[in-house]
Amino acid sequence: MTAAVLSVRNLQVEFATRHSTLRAIDGISFDIAKGEVLGVVGESGAGKSVTGLAVIGLIDPPGRIAGGQIHLSGQRIDDLPPEQMRRIRGKRIGMIFQDPLTSLNPLYRIGDQLVETIRTHLDLSETGARKRAIDLLAEVGIAAPEKRIDAYPHEFSGGMRQRVVIALAICAEPELIIADEPTTALDVSVQAQIIALVKRLGRDHGTAVMLVTHDMGVIAETSDRVAVMYAGRIAEIGPVRAVVQNPLHPYARGLMGAIPTLASDAVRLVQIPGSMPRLAAIPPGCSFNPRCALAFERCRIDRPEPIRQGAQAVACHLFDAATKDTAA
Ligand code: SF4
Repeated sequence: MTAAVLSVRNLQVEFATRHSTLRAIDGISFDIAKGEVLGVVGESGAGKSVTGLAVIGLIDPPGRIAGGQIHLSGQRIDDLPPEQMRRIRGKRIGMIFQDPLTSLNPLYRIGDQLVETIRTHLDLSETGARKRAIDLLAEVGIAAPEKRIDAYPHEFSGGMRQRVVIALAICAEPELIIADEPTTALDVSVQAQIIALVKRLGRDHGTAVMLVTHDMGVIAETSDRVAVMYAGRIAEIGPVRAVVQNPLHPYARGLMGAIPTLASDAVRLVQIPGSMPRLAAIPPGCSFNPRCALAFERCRIDRPEPIRQGAQAVACHLFDAATKDTAA
């Protein structure tokens, strides 16, 4: 079995408020292998972006990692001093965010930004770094990169800017890329190209990719495995094909029903009634129970833990042998 590039175990993230401590991530565990794309999907507020920020060590106070461990290629990184973590970001972990302009400085030519990042992380001369920057721009699909390298970010379209951000993210050959809603701000036609690019780069470079998105269609196109998050926990995780075709968790079933299919005329938009609870109002037991058509008494009392079902793992009492024994 391939050792995991990213291994997250029982991660907990809390935010202190004046009145109480809110738990945004409540004990999640997952691995991402070399060359694998793990899609992390869920509604806004499910904890997917916070998970990405925890991995890259960017949870700002009053938030903090309150428990669990994060390992990168076997090295524990959740307890590193900020300076060491800063060196890991950019070099060993590349980042792609929704808005390319948060990663690009509008006042600097993109070549300067690439060269600076390359030289921060790799031992290259100015000329060597510039050559690498041109190669990277070509690799992410920027035409005539030797000319475009001296352009400013505003001279690029949104999709081209995101390609530049991807070039920045991969310039030090990171082991892991965290991509948080990398296509949300782009036109639909450009989205598909960026998705294909992220997927190809992961495969060609053997990079592990954590792709955070609310869009199950993007996950289905890109990912090898998917983790479905709900209220700070993983409701279901497994190979993308299995989870899309045979979702087990009632929430995942609702979510899969909400993927519009290109192959079918019927728009399979299924609404899951209600909305995700606020952090301050997460119900006891299974946090999905107020919205779940299959909820029963135990769901309002006990929190379900992940249970293996073939290649999938699902946190739902319906799959617990104890429930089945009681029902029998
Ligand atoms: Fe529904 Fe109960 Fe399963 Fe939660 S544990 S998803 S409430 S059946």
